[in-house]
Amino acid sequence: MEKNLHAVQEIETLTPETFLIHLDRNNFSFKPGQYAVLRNPETGEGREYSIYSSEKEDRLSFLVREIKDGDFSRYLRYLKVGSSIEIEGPRGFFILDDQSLGDAPVLFIATGTGISPFHSFATSYTNLNYHLLHGVHFADEAYGSDAFCPNRICLCTSREDKGNYFGRVTYYLRENKVDENTICYLCGNSEMIEEVTSILENYGVAPENIRTEVFF
Ligand SMILES: Cc1cc2nc3c(=O)[nH]c(=O)nc-3n(C[C@H](O)[C@H](O)[C@H](O)COP(=O)(O)OP(=O)(O)OC[C@H]3O[C@@H](n4cnc5c(N)ncnc54)[C@H](O)[C@@H]3O)c2cc1C
Repeated sequence: MEKNLHAVQEIETLTPETFLIHLDRNNFSFKPGQYAVLRNPETGEGREYSIYSSEKEDRLSFLVREIKDGDFSRYLRYLKVGSSIEIEGPRGFFILDDQSLGDAPVLFIATGTGISPFHSFATSYTNLNYHLLHGVHFADEAYGSDAFCPNRICLCTSREDKGNYFGRVTYYLRENKVDENTICYLCGNSEMIEEVTSILENYGVAPENIRTEVFF
C-alpha cells in the first residue's frame, strides 16, 4: 500500500522538553480534535499525536513532549527539515458536536500537551462559548496560549505561582463549581481524567457530557 508521506517544514522548540513539528499538509483532511499516527517510514514504528493546527492551515502541526528515553518522541525531535514522515489517519472521535459548536457552554480541561486538540478547536472555529483550564507545572508551558481569548483561559500552574491559579486543575475544580449542564472535554493523562471525571460527576454533569481523550 502507498504510504502517505509528509515533508518536515520545521521543528520549533517551545521549551527544553516540548516542540512543534510542522509538516506539509498535502491535502490531509481532518476534523479539529482528531489525532493521527505518525510513523517512521523506514522502521514502521509509530505513535498517536493529536493535531494541533487549525483545519484552515496549509501545514499540519503536532505538539510533542520529548520523553526521556522515549524512542519515538526523540526520533521526531531530531528529524531533519525536508525529511519525510508517514501519517495515518485521521482517527478518533474527540470532536465537537453541534451543541458544543453552538451557544452551549463548554469546558475544556487539558494537562500538558493535552492542549493540542483545544488549540485546533480554538483556531478552527470562531464564536465557541468555551472556558479552558490548562494544567501545567510552570507558566512557560502555556503552549499556544495566544490562540485562546485571555478571558476564557485559566492557566493552572502547580509548581510556581505564575499562572491564573496556583495549583492543579483538580484543586481548581474542587473550589469552583461547574454547572451541571456544561459539556466537558478532557484531554491529557489518565490520572487527571479519572479524577476530573469523578469531580464533574459529583457536580451532576451527566457521563455523556464528559468526553475524554487519554494520552497515556
Ligand atoms: C490519542 C493519543 C494522542 C496523543 N497525542 C499526543 C500529543 O499530541 N503530544 C504528545 O506529546 N503525546 C501524545 N500522545 C502520546 C504519544 O503517542 C507517545 O506515547 C509519546 O510521544 C511517548 O512516546 P515515546 O516513544 O517517546 O515514549 P514511550 O517509551 O512510548 O513512552 C514512555 C512514557 O512516557 C509517558 N508519556 C507519554 N506521552 C506523554 C506526554 N505527552 N507527556 C508526558 N508523558 C508522556 C508515558 O508514561 C509513557 O508510558 C498521544 C497518545 C494518544 C493515545
